[in-house]
Amino acid sequence: MRTISIHGATGSIGTSTLDLVRRQPDRWRVVALTANGNAAELARLAREFSAEVAVVADEACLPALREALAGSGIAAAGGAASLVEAAARPADLTIAAIVGCAGLAPTMAAIEQGRTVALANKEALVSAGAVMTAAVARSGATLLPVDSEHNAIFQCLAGNDLADVRWITLTASGGPFRDWSLEQLAHATPAQAVKHPNWSMGAKISVDSATMMNKGLEFIEAFHLFPVGVERLRIIVHPQSVVHSMVEYRDGSTLAQLGPSDMRVPIASALAWPARMDTPCAPLDLAAIGELTFRAADEVRFPATRLAREAAHAGGAAPAVLNAANEIAVAAFLAGKLAFTRIAAEVESVLTRYAPRAPASLADVIAVDAEARARARELLEPA
Ligand code: NDP
Repeated sequence: MRTISIHGATGSIGTSTLDLVRRQPDRWRVVALTANGNAAELARLAREFSAEVAVVADEACLPALREALAGSGIAAAGGAASLVEAAARPADLTIAAIVGCAGLAPTMAAIEQGRTVALANKEALVSAGAVMTAAVARSGATLLPVDSEHNAIFQCLAGNDLADVRWITLTASGGPFRDWSLEQLAHATPAQAVKHPNWSMGAKISVDSATMMNKGLEFIEAFHLFPVGVERLRIIVHPQSVVHSMVEYRDGSTLAQLGPSDMRVPIASALAWPARMDTPCAPLDLAAIGELTFRAADEVRFPATRLAREAAHAGGAAPAVLNAANEIAVAAFLAGKLAFTRIAAEVESVLTRYAPRAPASLADVIAVDAEARARARELLEPA
């Protein structure tokens, strides 16, 4: 029996993880489940899985969580410090599936304890970059990538030497607007943006997928997880989302990982690593799919990948600024306050106006993140 904690348990990745855990009741014991404010659902999951502790980040929701867990024997807690405390509790596997930079402190807490962390929360690695990878090296923690592309690359690299890699190619579906003109993009609505053609995901990552910022964040994530250098990373649009990414070696061999567009596949790979486990996912039927197509990314209509590549090149605080500005811009778009095509423009404006020193600690990253958010808000709603 192994112990597991799931941060962001009520979200898309969290519930997909619990779906797999539910199928292996003799394999897992749940330590901590956390969410932001969805106390009712968190309590329901905590009861179902007999968690030791359930934590809401939003302290205002703690009374509701306490009430929903009354008589269960499950501890209830609330607030940022409790989230970090829950992440530091011993667990054989920690699933980092909070959305956005809000997941940074708990993810770092698990890393500092030298834990095995299955990382879905890409914004945390993008923002903290070198600070997080240094903490991994220092503590001996293990990062298992859950993002489907990085999980694919991780699998394609197994048993190989990074020095032999010629290219790492991240595939991108291109999102729901991949064939839209700039004119059409200017009028894209939140409802259209969250309707991804291939994947079912949370609202924020769905919008990131539509702007291609998701691929930009993944580019930076890959830069940290697989240190082959920015110049060996590239992005290709692959509308069918069957090839999840590829690694080309210096002898001309390209290894790819293929699978259905179901996050339970990469999550299962992390849950069972270094072994394999069954999933309920439909087998890949390539004859039914028929064709796999590829095309170059269009950075005129979708400038986000260029911004992310430039931020990765610049290093230092630039990726944290890019991520924070994007989180604010996406929230404004989802609230109907910003046009779709202004999301990347807003991120670029913040990047040109705010270039702080490279963060050297978690506190520095959090300060850069907070300041970049404030600047992004100022640009959106000038005083
Ligand atoms: P969702 O929006 O579906 O879920 C987010 C989870 O995080 C919820 O449990 C939510 O709790 C919690 N949360 C939100 N804000 C906070 C906060 N301030 N403090 C603590 N917890 C918070 O997101 P996804 O599951 O789609 O994505 C999670 C992460 O995984 C993201 O970083 C995303 O980029 C990444 N990812 C997702 C994929 C997917 O297919 N969904 C694929 C690859 C990566 P509550 O319910 O209470 O709001």
